[in-house]
Amino acid sequence: MGCLWVRCIPCITDCVMAEIEKLGQKYRVALRIAKDPRFERFERLPCTQKGTYADDCLVQRVTQHKCYIVATVDRDLKRRIRKIPGVPIMYISNHRYNIERMPDDYGAPRF
Ligand SMILES: [Zn+2]
Repeated sequence: MGCLWVRCIPCITDCVMAEIEKLGQKYRVALRIAKDPRFERFERLPCTQKGTYADDCLVQRVTQHKCYIVATVDRDLKRRIRKIPGVPIMYISNHRYNIERMPDDYGAPRF
């Protein structure tokens, strides 16, 4: 809400969950937030191909369905997403959420 000025549904894919699980202790807070049913914040997106590298899965997903904003601070993933037209990127810098390539760059109405 604070960043986009609109209600949106954060989603997390099976492969990203698996990746966080593999990362272990250091990321246990992220895992707990993503898993906690009380938050009801994350919609789980099932992955069809098991064992796919998460970045590949996300790139494939947003290439096929242009309805997502990708939230990442991973430099390599950002670089790959930038090559796909019409897919904004959400990231955190200076403790704030930011959006790169907002849709008004693509002719959506301004407010
Ligand atoms: Zn996946």
